[in-house]
Amino acid sequence: MGTANIYVDRVTKYYGRVRALDNVSLSIEEGQIFGIFGPNGAGKSTLFRTISGLTRPNYGEVFVRGAPVSLNYTRVRRHVSQLLELPEVYDYMTLWEYLRFFARMGKVEPRLIDGLVWDWIMNIGMIDQAHQPIRGFSIGQRQRMEIARAFLTNAKIVLLDEPFIALDIAITERLHRYFDDWVREGRLIVITSHNLDAALKFVDEFAILSRGRVVDRVSMTDQHEVLITVRTDDAAGTAVTLEGIENVVIQSVGATDVKVQCGQETVPEMVKRLVEDGAVIYEVREENLIEALYRRALKNARRR
Ligand code: ADP
Ligand code: MG
Repeated sequence: MGTANIYVDRVTKYYGRVRALDNVSLSIEEGQIFGIFGPNGAGKSTLFRTISGLTRPNYGEVFVRGAPVSLNYTRVRRHVSQLLELPEVYDYMTLWEYLRFFARMGKVEPRLIDGLVWDWIMNIGMIDQAHQPIRGFSIGQRQRMEIARAFLTNAKIVLLDEPFIALDIAITERLHRYFDDWVREGRLIVITSHNLDAALKFVDEFAILSRGRVVDRVSMTDQHEVLITVRTDDAAGTAVTLEGIENVVIQSVGATDVKVQCGQETVPEMVKRLVEDGAVIYEVREENLIEALYRRALKNARRR
């Protein structure tokens, strides 16, 4: 992976008294699909608006390919493609006209435009709708249309806010292939989702946003990591034993339980060592690390 394509530097954003983003720092490198996951109201859409320059943070700055967004609005808009809110202004256009219009705006070479537009109409599975006006499209169809538009404008960075709402599985899987090819050419796709299951298989890395803060950052190379909860009568002693095992990271020590993070393959060794040390174990519970982190973010959000 290359340089930081997006660098969010201590960004805080208020809407009146609502703090939508709270001192967020995040750097996202090119050449990957990056996820921003979090429950509704976490600040995902606001973060996208600050990255694409549609809204100004109260504090902090976002840098897109090294350029501060607040000083380089036009330049940033050229690099960054974001799904528009449903674009009523274009309602009278057909899908074909709409995509051609944006391909021209996106400075696609004129002789390539028609071919590319047709490719994308096919990619999003909307050949039957090509000459229908956008006006009658469902939310799912509009979302597909906007994904095509994002790619046709030749942007280096594509921000997709909740693309999985109303997208069916077949289309989603097809798009995944294009996303992968596309980022391998050194571009960056950032996807937000409130639904971890839908988005997880798409991303290489992701951040979890909760109540306007980045609470975790996880790489998919961690996907075989587990969170183990050991319930015991001697939490302190158990923590000492576990801490001595290679690749085991202690997460917390409570009155009657110890939580550790480790690779799945380490679990038998852990159990063996605890038994050898004569620990009294009531329960060993295993959870997938990524799911456990996300559940924790959801729980914190509810406590708001
Ligand atoms: P998400 O996209 O993760 O659901 P948002 O960024 O839309 O979260 O919202 C974050 C917080 O900011 C929420 O509390 C939301 O109500 C508030 N918010 C978002 N946009 C506005 C706005 N234009 N005016 C007032 N409050 C807003
Ligand atoms: Mg949102």
